[in-house]
Amino acid sequence: MNYYIEPIARLINELSRLPGIGGKTAQRLAFHIIDMPKEKALALTQAILKAREETKYCSVCCNITDQDPCKICSSQGRDRSLICVVKDPRDVIAMEKMRNYNGVYHILHGHISPMEGIGPDDIRIKELLHRIETDDVKEVILATNPDIEGEATAVYISRLLKPMGIRVTRIAHGIPVGGDLEYADEVTLSKALEGRREM
Ligand SMILES: [Zn+2]
Repeated sequence: MNYYIEPIARLINELSRLPGIGGKTAQRLAFHIIDMPKEKALALTQAILKAREETKYCSVCCNITDQDPCKICSSQGRDRSLICVVKDPRDVIAMEKMRNYNGVYHILHGHISPMEGIGPDDIRIKELLHRIETDDVKEVILATNPDIEGEATAVYISRLLKPMGIRVTRIAHGIPVGGDLEYADEVTLSKALEGRREM
């Protein structure tokens, strides 16, 4: 049985689909939104629509961008022979905050996860192989998360890349096992990058 009138039930339902938002939080947010002045609610909906409409994936690195190629891929100052492979766009932000990485990125948009039915074709591995075939890439740094799925993804990609004759490394030290790249502080991440090892 539904205790809420239809418009509120619908709002709670939509909010509860968002990651990390449980039923209680969705309910709290819904009532907060309903209490907002109308122009604030409108600003929120417009910000959501604008962010959704004005962003796309970079045709080179697959990062979320408002211009194609993205700012990093089109920058003259970046070393295109060095590609850092990460799980999602938030990892790029973590890496960029560190300020001492001058290569480019490739964003997979997920890890291989047989448990969740995510196979190699469901993430952006094909796009990475295409870049290596067409660009002069010397090294690929696998910076997927140090959890089971991140490790499995790194091993899978390294097996594809090594026969192509490029250096394949994995960030190793500093990031706690089971940790998220996104939450690593800049010093830890910097050490992890310096201490990368051959795969
Ligand atoms: Zn890009």
